[in-house]
Amino acid sequence: MAIKKAFHGGTFHGGLAGNPFIARFRKIEMKKQTKHEWFMREAISEALKGDVAKTSPNPRVGSVIVESGVIVGRGFFESDGGPHAERVALADLGRAPLRGATLYVTLEPCSTHGRTGACSQAIVESGISKVVVGALDPTSVHRGAGLVALQEAGVSVDPNVLVSECEAINPGFAGRET
Ligand SMILES: [Zn+2]
Repeated sequence: MAIKKAFHGGTFHGGLAGNPFIARFRKIEMKKQTKHEWFMREAISEALKGDVAKTSPNPRVGSVIVESGVIVGRGFFESDGGPHAERVALADLGRAPLRGATLYVTLEPCSTHGRTGACSQAIVESGISKVVVGALDPTSVHRGAGLVALQEAGVSVDPNVLVSECEAINPGFAGRET
């Protein structure tokens, strides 16, 4: 899928290393990554509150909502058939997010309407400005689709933050292909 390549945009390789503008951009990127990683770790700790016995066969997922550097909503996926982490975090916030609010989630938001509706749609409707994502959904039908849905609706998407840590939440899930 072509989009996968686009999602790695922003990473520079080889010949550009000596360019002072690129070096400066890299510094900014690193700063941003550090902030993203810090909040993603909070989302990971939310995900780990899930009990595998209850979430199975679904993966454990955690989410936090950040406004001006402050976590204002948290959520994790608790049980099969229950609301997904993103919806729990939005409900925890309990109001419309402020302009510029960022939602962090350990796994790409779902793009299909299941029992609880697509989270990518719920995020768009909530007014969240930006979504930072850890792991992609390994299933070929979903992989990247949730991110495309968000981007098409005008939500800024920053994927691939702490991917291996996010994948480690659900051993075996990352390699699953259905
Ligand atoms: Zn979902």
